[in-house]
Amino acid sequence: MEINNCPSCGAKVEFSPVDKALKCLKCEKVYPINYVKNAKKKPLVKGENDDGFKEWENNSRCYQCSNCGGQIILNKYEMSSKCQYCNTASLVPLKELPGLKPSVVLPFRLSKQQAGEMFKKNIRSKIFLPREFKKKLPKTEIGASYIPSFSFACDVYAMYHGIEEYKKVVHENGETKTITRTRPISGHIKHHFNNIIVEVSDKISQQHISSILPFNFNEAYDYDSAFIMGYSVGYYNQTPIDAFEKAKEMAEDEIENMIRNNYYNYISSLSVQSNFSDESYIYSLVPIYFVSFKYKNKEYINLMNGQNGNLGGKLPYSKVKITFAAIFVLLLMIGLPLLILLLS
Ligand SMILES: [Zn+2]
Ligand SMILES: [Zn+2]
Repeated sequence: MEINNCPSCGAKVEFSPVDKALKCLKCEKVYPINYVKNAKKKPLVKGENDDGFKEWENNSRCYQCSNCGGQIILNKYEMSSKCQYCNTASLVPLKELPGLKPSVVLPFRLSKQQAGEMFKKNIRSKIFLPREFKKKLPKTEIGASYIPSFSFACDVYAMYHGIEEYKKVVHENGETKTITRTRPISGHIKHHFNNIIVEVSDKISQQHISSILPFNFNEAYDYDSAFIMGYSVGYYNQTPIDAFEKAKEMAEDEIENMIRNNYYNYISSLSVQSNFSDESYIYSLVPIYFVSFKYKNKEYINLMNGQNGNLGGKLPYSKVKITFAAIFVLLLMIGLPLLILLLS
């Protein structure tokens, strides 16, 4: 059963993370949601590019922000004019289709109120923030949004060769010294990647998303419009095929790290050739809070993981505190050896 308004009083209902159900904003009645886990990863079929932007469902509408260009999807019953990405009221409806229907949703676990409390706690625990900022926190605005991401699985078979640099102790003309020698290395490595997450909205960088990881995919449920009632959904602008290129880069970086970790010594001119197979993906919506505030006329927008409260983004750091910390470290670096020298 799909509920758009409260059957009891007719007011708006929203997904409530605390109740794990739909809740009426007026009479506070709670309506259960079906939590189903059936969705599986789909094989990534090359040449299917055009399928990437097919119609979702006519319950959703696409909007574009006239300020920053960000695109988001709202349920057709949702009335919002505020853009999550830049925190200005400048959303304009678009006629375009809202794209593929997501397969799974990771529902918000923290409520907006809990997110606000976690943000304050997080701020208080940071040492390099200006004192006046910590003392009197500016008014924060919290927006909630599901961000589109593709999660990939694949097998990688990688062949590599490179040069290992190692140290050797030699005795020459009655002298003992250490020299650097090299030897060629080569080999292969097999690895299965189960969950490479690629964020696919153009308004949030992969780096920004990485700063609030991990997301718990054990709590990924089959898409149900109830999960997004009251929330906006970021629009994706890459097809699964395009996004997989990013996933490959991430996998290749990790493979390179694995190879380097296999050796005790430094590896130079490493060359790796990776072959990918059995690629599959799932289109998921991950929960993110946008915490925005103004400090000294500057606007800050932080991201918060809607499951565990991890915070990422820029904060107003105190230059004075950082300078003092740097001086302290410097003194320690000079002072400590001096002390050891004096005591010995
Ligand atoms: Zn009601
Ligand atoms: Zn915007």
